[in-house]
Amino acid sequence: MNVLVCGGAGYIGSHTVYELIERGHNVVVADNLVKGHREAVHSAAKFYEGDLRDALFLDKVFKENKIDAVIDFAAFSLVGESVTRPLKYFDNNVYGTIRLLEAMNRAGVKKIVFSSTAATYGEPESIPIVESDSTVPTNPYGESKLTVEKILKWSDNAYGIKYVALRYFNAAGAHISGEIGEDHDPESHLIPIILQVALGKRKQIAVFGDDYPTPDGTCVRDYIHVTDLADAHIKAIEKLFADNTSAVYNLGNGKGFSVKEVIEEARKVTGNDIKAVTEGRRPGDPSTLIASSEKAVKELGWQPRFNTLSQIIETAWKWHSSHPDGYKK
Ligand code: UDP
Repeated sequence: MNVLVCGGAGYIGSHTVYELIERGHNVVVADNLVKGHREAVHSAAKFYEGDLRDALFLDKVFKENKIDAVIDFAAFSLVGESVTRPLKYFDNNVYGTIRLLEAMNRAGVKKIVFSSTAATYGEPESIPIVESDSTVPTNPYGESKLTVEKILKWSDNAYGIKYVALRYFNAAGAHISGEIGEDHDPESHLIPIILQVALGKRKQIAVFGDDYPTPDGTCVRDYIHVTDLADAHIKAIEKLFADNTSAVYNLGNGKGFSVKEVIEEARKVTGNDIKAVTEGRRPGDPSTLIASSEKAVKELGWQPRFNTLSQIIETAWKWHSSHPDGYKK
């Protein structure tokens, strides 16, 4: 199959490109490299540098390649920044995808897998979260992704573009080879920051709040390995070709770990003390987010293979310890 991966130089995108190539698919990557890394793109993928908001760029990509399906990861994803700069997020995440859908329509490409998020739910009404729960995002990032989900629904209705939207919980870990991994600037995610402490690149990890209504008072999240996410995207494409029906799925391990538990596990994996200090709560953080992925297990035949926290942290450690400065030499 010929797959166009938009945002294929980013964290989850680059891992999905590896997985597609390992399974024998032809991959075309489109990325503006604002956040992505050229070095993260598998050498067997055809690479185009450009922005989804540029219609001429997209037409060129679709004209030069026979594309069967699109996977769209291209988006900004910093929750905190989205609160202070919402228009930047709506412009890139919503307008970019509208342009992509228009170009797909012009090219007659009718299948898309869309990178959505648990942030579409906002404060959960119950745990574990199921896809039919109410979606009330508490930040513009989640709102931008939910808006695209709605646009996808109406584009299916009007143009017959079939979609699968995948709502990820906390993406973590790295490719088992240690060749590609997570590299954000600035880094704001828990596991990479903890590992930067273990590497001596930071003095300590700040624990954002220990007065939440959870067993140890720190926030509980559902960490899911990036290669398991990649696998779900490929299964989602296969599903679209099998039944031509749009759908939304949660992707998580179904198990929650507190910030303190993650730090403790990283101490075991790295053999480092990893100094932690408690600070105040980070605004907008729900206390507990845990997915029910039963629907994806049942309908996609998906099953996370990295289902322990230690496996996830071990692969992240392999990447960070061999690339302490990320993709920078
Ligand atoms: N967190 C923390 N210190 C940090 C970064 C994150 O205590 O330096 C906490 C954060 O408050 C949340 C959890 O770790 O409860 C996971 O945060 P992350 O940013 O990795 O993912 P999010 O859940 O926001 O998508």
